[in-house]
Amino acid sequence: MVYMRLLLLAAWTASMAPALDLCVRNEAGLDNGTLLLTMHHIRQNPGKAGRLSFACSASAVRVTFAAHQEGPHPPDALGATRSAGGKILPDIIVFTRSVLQMLGEAGVDGQARALAKVVAHELSHYFRQQRGHDEGLDKPFLDAQELIALR
Ligand SMILES: [Zn+2]
Repeated sequence: MVYMRLLLLAAWTASMAPALDLCVRNEAGLDNGTLLLTMHHIRQNPGKAGRLSFACSASAVRVTFAAHQEGPHPPDALGATRSAGGKILPDIIVFTRSVLQMLGEAGVDGQARALAKVVAHELSHYFRQQRGHDEGLDKPFLDAQELIALR
């Protein structure tokens, strides 16, 4: 009986907190190994979503890895989140060339952690619906050491 109840509770909790889908587009041409490792690290930093999955559903947040910047971003920007009419949209861009250049010799895992942290930073702008910055991963600037750090 207790077992049944626990199962029901688990099912209920899972349905209350559906995973947030991320729709990843690899326009930068990251190789498969780097991309899969980056997705692995993205999952470790779900932020307010609690749980992340990768699917291009109607409610997914779009995550585009673009080699080059497009649009009016500061030259040292590592990523951006689109906004319109005062709302921050579920549409994130990571400028992979800027991130990878900044890291130097970081190795594939370091690169993947850094790319994932930029995604986490931009996702947080979307969750908070704020352009402003805060502490930790929400700082306005992250240096190479912080980007490749384990946490
Ligand atoms: Zn920011």
